[in-house]
Amino acid sequence: SIGQVDDDLVICGPTPAEPLLEIKTAGKEIFEKLLTYNTAKDAIIDAFTEEKLSYGALLQKICDLAEALRFHGYTTGTVVSICSENNINFFIPVLASLFIGCIMAPVNHNYVQNELIHLFNISKPKVVFCSKNVSLKILDLKATLSYISRIIIIDSDESAPGTETLDEFVTSSLRGRHISPYHFQPLEGDPAKLGAFIFCSSGTTGFPKGVLLSQKNMYVRLLQSRDPRYYVKTTGENKSILGLLPFFHAFGMCIGLEAITRGDKLIVLKRFDEDMFLKCIQDYKISELLLAPPIAVFLEKSSKVLQYDLSSVKEIVCGAAPLSRETEQAIRKKLKNIQTIRQGYGLTEATLAITLLAQGEQRPGSCGRVITFMSCKVRDPETGKALGPNTVGELCFKGPMVMAGYYNDEKATKETFTPDGWLRTGDLGYYDKEKYFYIVDRMKELIKYKGFQVAPAELEALLLNHPKVRDVGVVGLPDDIAGELPVAFVVKKEGHEDVTEAELQNYVASMVSSPKHLRGGVIFVSEIPKNPSGKILRRVLKDRLKGYRPTK
Ligand code: AMP
Repeated sequence: SIGQVDDDLVICGPTPAEPLLEIKTAGKEIFEKLLTYNTAKDAIIDAFTEEKLSYGALLQKICDLAEALRFHGYTTGTVVSICSENNINFFIPVLASLFIGCIMAPVNHNYVQNELIHLFNISKPKVVFCSKNVSLKILDLKATLSYISRIIIIDSDESAPGTETLDEFVTSSLRGRHISPYHFQPLEGDPAKLGAFIFCSSGTTGFPKGVLLSQKNMYVRLLQSRDPRYYVKTTGENKSILGLLPFFHAFGMCIGLEAITRGDKLIVLKRFDEDMFLKCIQDYKISELLLAPPIAVFLEKSSKVLQYDLSSVKEIVCGAAPLSRETEQAIRKKLKNIQTIRQGYGLTEATLAITLLAQGEQRPGSCGRVITFMSCKVRDPETGKALGPNTVGELCFKGPMVMAGYYNDEKATKETFTPDGWLRTGDLGYYDKEKYFYIVDRMKELIKYKGFQVAPAELEALLLNHPKVRDVGVVGLPDDIAGELPVAFVVKKEGHEDVTEAELQNYVASMVSSPKHLRGGVIFVSEIPKNPSGKILRRVLKDRLKGYRPTK
C-alpha cells in the first residue's frame, strides 16, 4: 500500500546511548545530578565581573527559591516568567520552577511593552523574574496585567517599590530558614503531562505564540547532551562552556541547562562584546563553541580574532540559521586547531536540534543526520507523500522532542501537524543517499534576523495601522551577515502619496524591538499579490527582490 511505501521513507535517528526512562522529569534528573557535584566547584561565572556561583551555592539557592514558591502555592502548572539579560542568577528561577513543576515562560528582555504584553497575555505568568535593568518596564505592565502578582529582581540587592529581590522573597517566605538540598523533594509525575517551558515562536504562520515544552521534551534533550556522539567530555578540570546566546531562546537555554546538568563551568556573557568574547575563549580555554551564524561570520571576518590565542577551540557547533560553506571553510583556515565544525538544525517547536552532525563528521553545508529518539519524513508539499533521497520537500518530524503544542492555542497546534501526527517545520530540505540533511529554503513566513525570529504578520498588522498605508506584505531579504533583513512592500493609501520609506521605517522602529526593524527597506508598489482567498503570495514578493539593494 501507499502507507507502506511512505513508512520505508521515514528516517530514524540512531539508537540512543541511554534509554528513555519514561517516568523521570527533567527537574528530578537535574536535581539528582546537582546533588552529586563537589559543592566548592565553580558552576557559573560572570565574564564581565568575574562574580561566581559554586555548585553548592547554586543548588542551595535553587532549593530555597523552589520551597519559597511552593509556600505561596505556586506549583505544578503555575506559569512564571523570566525577562533578563544573561546573568549568573538566571538559572536559579529556571531550575526552581523545573524542580517544582512550574512552567517557565522566558521572554526577550529587549522586547518593548507591546511585544511583552502580547507574550504575557498568552502565558499569563503569576510571577515575573527580571533583572534590575528591565524591572521598570515590567512594573509598568503589572499595573494593567492583573495576573502578574509579583516581580522578583534576580540580579540586585536593591528592590524598587512594587518589586522584591530574590533574597527578600526567599527570606520572607521561609522566615530565614534554609532548605537542606538533601531533604528537598523535587516534583515527580508523568513528564509528558507536565509543562516545563513556554518559549516564544511564530511557527509557520501568524503572530508569535507560546511553544509548550514538557518535562519529557527537556529530559530527552538532556540525554542527548551527554551522548558521546554529540558531546565530548574532557577529562580533568571541568569543561568551560560559553553562555553567550540569549538564555530566553531555546538554544541559549539548553546550552546553559545542559552545562549545569553535566557539571561544567558556565561562563556567562550578558551581551556580545567582541573582545570579551575572544578573551573568554582564550582565558577559559573553551574547546567547544556553540554559536549562531552571525558570530561565526564575526570569527570569519574580524581581524581581532588573530590577536587572541584561540588554540583551545576544537569544535564549533552552529545552529539557529544556515551556516554557509564559505564561512565554514574560512573559519577552518583561520582557526588552525579546529577539528570539526558541526551544524545542527532545529526549531523551538521540536525543543532544539533534531538533525546534527556527530563528533568528527565533516559535511560542509549539511546540518547532519536525524538525532536520537527522532524520526523525519521529507514530505511533498503538494501531495503529502514521503520523498526519497535528493528530493526537496518539507521536513516533518515525530518523536519525544516535539512540543506538547502551542499554549492555549488549539487551532494553531492543529495546523502545525499533518493529519497523521507529523510536526510540520515549514522548512524545505532534502537528504542525500547517506541520510545527511541539507536545508535549502523556508516555505513558512518566518524571517530570521541574526537568528532572531521576526514574524511578518506582526509587522504587517503594525503597518496596516499606519494612516498612510493601504496594504502591505513583509518578507525577508537575503543578507550575508544577518541572514535576512525584513523588507516591506507597501501600497500607499489614496491621498497619502507623500509617505516616505524613512517615515515607515521610523514608525516600525518606534513600535518593536531592533531585530524587527525594516532594515531591508520599504518598496512602494501598486498592489500586493494575493491568492483568491486573500493570502499574500510571499514567493512572488521574494522573487521581486532579485537585484534589489536597500538604500542605506
Ligand atoms: P527557532 O525556533 O527560533 O529556533 O527557529 C527555527 C527555524 O530556524 C527553523 O525552522 C529554520 O527555519 C531555521 N533554522 C534553524 N537551524 C537552521 C539551519 N541549520 N539551517 C537553516 N535554517 C535553520
